[in-house]
Amino acid sequence: MARLAVLGGGQLGRLLAEAADALGIPAACFDLDPACSASRACEVVRGSFDDADAVRRFAEGAAAVTCEWESVPLSALVAAGSVAPLRPGVASFAAARDRFAEQDCFAHAGVRAPESLRVSRASDLPEAFERLGSPVVLKSRFGGYDGKGQARLARGDDPGEVFDRLGVSEVLAQAFVGFEREVSVVGCRGADGDFVAFDPIENEHRGGILYRSLAPAVGLSWERRSELERATRAIADDLGHVGVLAVEFFLTADGVLANEIAPRVHNSGHWTLGSGLTSQFEQHVRAVLGRPLARAGGRCWGGMINLVGVVPDGVEELAGRPGVDVRLYGKEPRPGRKLGHVSVHAETETVRDDLLKRVTDAVEWSVV
Ligand code: AMP
Repeated sequence: MARLAVLGGGQLGRLLAEAADALGIPAACFDLDPACSASRACEVVRGSFDDADAVRRFAEGAAAVTCEWESVPLSALVAAGSVAPLRPGVASFAAARDRFAEQDCFAHAGVRAPESLRVSRASDLPEAFERLGSPVVLKSRFGGYDGKGQARLARGDDPGEVFDRLGVSEVLAQAFVGFEREVSVVGCRGADGDFVAFDPIENEHRGGILYRSLAPAVGLSWERRSELERATRAIADDLGHVGVLAVEFFLTADGVLANEIAPRVHNSGHWTLGSGLTSQFEQHVRAVLGRPLARAGGRCWGGMINLVGVVPDGVEELAGRPGVDVRLYGKEPRPGRKLGHVSVHAETETVRDDLLKRVTDAVEWSVV
């Protein structure tokens, strides 16, 4: 049987491989590190994304090629896509990796985003303050993630110093949004254009890294939920996206603003594993293989907390509790590194909150 070829072998590659395996589909990941997280779940082909020939050989004969990392070089994507169906396609990656293209994508899909200005010199910043107010959030055009490549700048600060610190020449200057909360929508678009989304997820970050997610986000009006789902679908349709697409939004007093897209399974969707719903990983595998999407039945109150930097001792004990799902990625501990996550699942909000509090108490200190 033709295999699913995954570019990247981190925890997302591993969880995708496990989902494919459960559907009886062999998977392999392509990664520079033969001992990467996915190596415990599937075959890993060692290679560099800069080696287009190696990527092409890896993709040859695959039922589909997909990515667990949005920064795979475009040359590697094109090489893979020349020999097997690349899902999602290049357009989704082109939009996700480039903050300028991402803004164009939001505008094209008719989705509101924070006011922004493209800046290529520190001397452009006075205009940014004039147009966007103070402070502004500066985001490097390429390569930023988990709050990296980002700085806040207020009128009167030294823009030259901030530019030097970011170490880039092109930045997106964005109006600072005093949001009420941050939510993400993890949706999936099938090869036939069908679309299914999980309930909006509320996210809490610490030090720029996702700390905790609650699903569904509490107290969203029907209109808000529909607006979030509509916006996610509009972006997916506009990109011709196939597979899971996650969109991060700011909720503000006067509506919903899109912040960022990820053309892949997303950390905020990890709670779907073990929830009884079809997980984001299975849904992605189904989509990229051209299978019908699963319709999530029933309802689940979920929550997830990341294990970052260290795996606390208490986790082992949590793993045996009903409603608690522990996943460790088999990665070497390092400050700021995501090593695993714990999710909780319940039939009521109260039970979910209680479970999540217990888990949070047990792992709180691990977030560094
Ligand atoms: P990003 O890399 O764009 O996802 O940004 C990382 C985090 O920085 C977000 O999750 C927000 O908490 C914060 N952030 C990003 N952009 C803005 C903004 N325009 N206004 C306020 N906070 C922001």
